[in-house]
Amino acid sequence: MTATWPDGRRAAAAFTFDVDAESCVLAHDPAASSRMSLMTHQAYGPRVGVPRLLRLLERQQVRATFFVPGFTADTYPGMVRQIIDGGHEVAHHGYLHEPMQGISAEAEAEYIDRGLEALDRLGVRPTGYRAPWWEMNWHSADLLIERGFTYDSSLLDGDVPYRFSGASGRGSLVEIPVDWTLDDWEQYAFYPGWTGSGVIESPAKVHEMWLLEAQAHHAEGGCFVLTNHPFISGRPSKAAALERLIEDVRALDGMWVATLGEIAEHAARTVQEVRQIRRVECPEGYFDRTGARPAPAH
Ligand SMILES: [Zn+2]
Repeated sequence: MTATWPDGRRAAAAFTFDVDAESCVLAHDPAASSRMSLMTHQAYGPRVGVPRLLRLLERQQVRATFFVPGFTADTYPGMVRQIIDGGHEVAHHGYLHEPMQGISAEAEAEYIDRGLEALDRLGVRPTGYRAPWWEMNWHSADLLIERGFTYDSSLLDGDVPYRFSGASGRGSLVEIPVDWTLDDWEQYAFYPGWTGSGVIESPAKVHEMWLLEAQAHHAEGGCFVLTNHPFISGRPSKAAALERLIEDVRALDGMWVATLGEIAEHAARTVQEVRQIRRVECPEGYFDRTGARPAPAH
């Protein structure tokens, strides 16, 4: 798969921020609200991280995409207004960063609608969606198409944007694929009893790893999509490394640094093929026959 980029550019890059704040903790365990210190670890994102990142983006004259769960928007409406005032894109990221894995279409539709209502209260009608934990279901695309979304950024099977249709075959979405290599959670996130292995990487190493990925995407005409969380990468040394990375990526000859909304709009105009993503199943009764292990429950 290859892509063409506007104005003869060679490749594209997008800097994206998932403003999970407290939502991703509470969605896993509502009782976590009793842990005051953990709650402040998450609140660091809206309180300190986002303002620092907005200053950084303004210095670099880069517009970014912020995925804001509805609960974050309800809790920190002023922060969302700062993001908008900075000229950035606000997109959808669930309501309470709900675990989407294996849920029904009805439940998922309710979560998406709650997220839309929260953003609507701030005058935002998002065109883009990123599933919490990047966890899409086979029915998700139809729900997004029905609600007028134009793109998703949660799937992992490409280096460049593509178009795909949902299970119903009606309409299509642009997919702008992501990659766990380009997520700050794996590099830095640690909180005892909540997440991480206890290893917090050096921002110098992370800058090197992400720049290598950007350079390789640039060489191949790909689409570099970085996912950062303000409660993680809004911290001083990590934000400083991110700023150096943005400088280095902007300096790559012919690199188009854009919001995901802009990239999706370009892909919708220029990509002709609409894929149907094939659902691959385990051969029926496979483990029954071999006796290797019992068939997993669905
Ligand atoms: Zn998230």
